[in-house]
Amino acid sequence: MVQHQVSDTVLLDYAAGNLHEAFGLVVATQVSICDAVRGRLDEMEQIGGAVLEESGCARLAEGSYDAVLARIRSTAPEPEPGSGFGPERTADCPVLPGPVRTYVGGGVAAIRWRSLGMGVRQAVLHSSKTASARLLYIPAGAHMPDHGHHGTEMTLVLQGAFLDGDRRYARGDVAVADEDVAHTPVADIGEDCICLAACEGALKFTGLLPRIVQPFFRI
Ligand code: ZN
Repeated sequence: MVQHQVSDTVLLDYAAGNLHEAFGLVVATQVSICDAVRGRLDEMEQIGGAVLEESGCARLAEGSYDAVLARIRSTAPEPEPGSGFGPERTADCPVLPGPVRTYVGGGVAAIRWRSLGMGVRQAVLHSSKTASARLLYIPAGAHMPDHGHHGTEMTLVLQGAFLDGDRRYARGDVAVADEDVAHTPVADIGEDCICLAACEGALKFTGLLPRIVQPFFRI
């Protein structure tokens, strides 16, 4: 069960095509493995389509939004059992969901990792002036360097889990951090953690060594 879903604001921006590529990849990936998020997105897209069709150039009557929502809910088909993400992970539910596989060009074996030291590895999937998206591999029990942020950071767990303060994020969960957050995520014991992380701007490392190597790793 996915505990931490993307917010309505982010999902609306995604539905409207207003998210940049890095965050769009995170949202598309969570949508692909979580029935609940996919249901919310479907609902938003149907409302958007219905409102556009019915509104023309006239103002909407009061209560239109609720009426459309009620109509959609009364006619929306039930999701097919087993169509989404469950606790079991099989060959039909690989570590890398479809959107990520598209960037990697295959499954986990096709990822071109680069070492960040201490067993932590990364593979940059997308990089622009606005934001970047990368896969991170954190050995079970290992921690990321202590860091802050210049913009928003969205991290989606694909394998294992990590702890951030008193919160635990497992496969399918999205963690969001912003300029006000400084943290040291730690991979949960038991299984190595693989995450998809999208960041606006560079990270702000407090340790000397990470700051020295930072320019070389585009992190
Ligand atoms: Zn962070």
